[in-house]
Amino acid sequence: MTVVTRFAPSPTGFLHIGGARTALFNWAFARHHGGQFLLRIEDTDRARSTPEATEAIFEGMRWLGLDWDGEAVSQASRETRHAEIGADMLANGTAYKCWSTKEEIDAFRAQAKAEKRPPLFLSPWRDADADAIAAQDAAGEPYVIRLKAPREGQVVVEDAVQGTVTWEAAQLDDLILLRSDGTPVYMLAVVVDDHDMGVTHVIRGDDHLTNAARQSLIYRALGWDVPVFAHIPLIHGPDGAKLSKRHGALGVDAYRDMGYVPEGMRNYLARLGWSHGDDEVFTTEELMDWFNLEAIGKGAARFDFAKLANINGHHIRSMPEDRLAALLFDFAAAQDHALDAATRDMLTEALPGLRERAKTLTELVDLAYYILATRPLEPDEKAAKALAGDAPKLLARLTPHLHAATPWKPSPLEDAVRRFAENEGLKLGKVAQPLRAALTGRGVSPGVFDVMVTLGRDEALARIADVTGG
Ligand code: GLU
Repeated sequence: MTVVTRFAPSPTGFLHIGGARTALFNWAFARHHGGQFLLRIEDTDRARSTPEATEAIFEGMRWLGLDWDGEAVSQASRETRHAEIGADMLANGTAYKCWSTKEEIDAFRAQAKAEKRPPLFLSPWRDADADAIAAQDAAGEPYVIRLKAPREGQVVVEDAVQGTVTWEAAQLDDLILLRSDGTPVYMLAVVVDDHDMGVTHVIRGDDHLTNAARQSLIYRALGWDVPVFAHIPLIHGPDGAKLSKRHGALGVDAYRDMGYVPEGMRNYLARLGWSHGDDEVFTTEELMDWFNLEAIGKGAARFDFAKLANINGHHIRSMPEDRLAALLFDFAAAQDHALDAATRDMLTEALPGLRERAKTLTELVDLAYYILATRPLEPDEKAAKALAGDAPKLLARLTPHLHAATPWKPSPLEDAVRRFAENEGLKLGKVAQPLRAALTGRGVSPGVFDVMVTLGRDEALARIADVTGG
């Protein structure tokens, strides 16, 4: 059997982090088995679905590197097919027309409540006689089509994560399949689409578990194979409560803008609910090799920004240098940093040192501020402090010694600064700190002599002159 999975988001907003994890699990499972990963946009709710949201989902998936097979399917475009299947069910007796009005249904529920019975609506049309039905048909009264669900016994879902889950048939009503205007309800559309798309495994959030019971009934009524269901526990915040914005319930675009890299996100999202022994950090190839449904946990995963940052830092340190450079260039450009060829060269040269100290691209850009910034620099708080008081005068006295240092390489520069500090009766740090501040505008940076070489003689001396007024 070829494995076919799908991700079926409703395009009503950005691709949020929970959806991204669902997509990742489906993608990893399909890729592990050499199967197919399909994308279906569940856009039947016309009022809430927007093309912008669909585009945001595509974009989020592309950024995460979750490539889907074939064209994305629009659920709304398949309404005719859904309606056809509803009509088939009516014809084969697994569904029936129901003419009950809203008032009748409300009255039924009110009475059930008063008699302390379950408020499950039982349509009188389920077992109505043929003449009554023919009369309604002849009158052209509007009706819905309902599933003729079993009234007795149990509905069992064998879930790959949750195990065997059982419902009493009497607890599930005869759900509506087609509305009175002939449009399909979500529950029918999902089943028909999953069947037609050949989906073998449905991996999704456990908020859909009860839907699986209802959908199983539709599959059975149609004589179709029920796919393997795997309902994954939702993501919670670090305190165990439902994930809120503060906890990280954001779109993947927000994570991109915070400077997380796709490799890090994939790794972290995989660990939100799935594990491979004690492995915390792994590559996407390893994820594809290892991913299975058996190791999905039953408990809710907790979102943890610190862990995400750590994992992201690992990937920043270990990914191929040209890949990191490309990500960094895009990220810096998105923040309006002008990246001419000289700046790119400088960044590339400094990258091996910088990447060791950054967990996110945001931190990397901050560390690379001295390369990205243009004169005159805007010192941060620490740098401003280092440049206060007599610091400019000190740097002015140092300047001729730097002019004299040849060649413009770390060790002659270091010698010059050391000798100057000794003559001034100062520790090296007392000179290096304001020097760093003048050159980088920051309180922390890579080694100050390396920075001078990266910047080049003219730029370095000009930055110092900006501070000394020389
Ligand atoms: N469209 C549904 C949602 O966004 C998913 C349906 C499914 O995966 O079966 O929650």
